[in-house]
Amino acid sequence: MLKKINYLTIFLCLVVQINLHAKLQGNPGEVFPILVKPNIAHKNFTVEIDGSHYELVALPFSKQGEYIEVGDKNIYVIEKDFGESRITIQDSSKVTLSDKDAQRAYKESQLIKKAISKYSTQFKSNFKFLKPVDGLISSRYGKKRYINEFPRSPHLALDIAAPTGTKIISPEFGEIVLIGDFFYSGNYVVIDHGHGLVTSYSHLSEVFVKEGQFIDKGQKIGEVGSTGRVTGPHLHWTVYLNQIRINPEIMIDEDYLDSIL
Ligand SMILES: [Zn+2]
Repeated sequence: MLKKINYLTIFLCLVVQINLHAKLQGNPGEVFPILVKPNIAHKNFTVEIDGSHYELVALPFSKQGEYIEVGDKNIYVIEKDFGESRITIQDSSKVTLSDKDAQRAYKESQLIKKAISKYSTQFKSNFKFLKPVDGLISSRYGKKRYINEFPRSPHLALDIAAPTGTKIISPEFGEIVLIGDFFYSGNYVVIDHGHGLVTSYSHLSEVFVKEGQFIDKGQKIGEVGSTGRVTGPHLHWTVYLNQIRINPEIMIDEDYLDSIL
């Protein structure tokens, strides 16, 4: 009899555990909300919804099918099929890099890494962005990429196609932390929105802001172009949360936070 009860207890515990685990999961490139105490000054990104405070934890694309550890919680990153995109780049020097270009691209990648790793804690977004360009989405987040039929890193940004000269606005208040003319990204801008939320803008034809400048939500930062490695004029828009590239579409979806809370 005692044995039977023990087995039953173990079975019930397992069922409860499985259920608990089933809830702690989310899509790659999205965020997972963790309830936190309101009175503590949080370094990481938090939002307040109906008086409750949540830390939003980024779920990395690269951790699909795995658990990530956040404090005492394990959060499962669901495996998702984002589809694929095949593009042709005619200029082969932009695909197979010379030593000089490879060195340049590496140096620039280090600059970008540095720019996205530091951020202000003086201002904070409500996690609802404006769409930075009025245009058509031409490539979504997460697509497997093939350039001239060779597999490349996945596309962890959002492409919005629009004619050269279309204005690009800042989706949120922030500080311009990096501007450059880069091998892959062309004319490039990075904005710090505070608490680990950072955005970047590639391939601009014109840039109208300066490093160190504070910009308002909706303020013009530049114009769409086709500088760097591109197939046509578009904005390649990247959103980072704690240095992890998340899906920019969740930031412009008014109902996103309600859907996960
Ligand atoms: Zn892109």
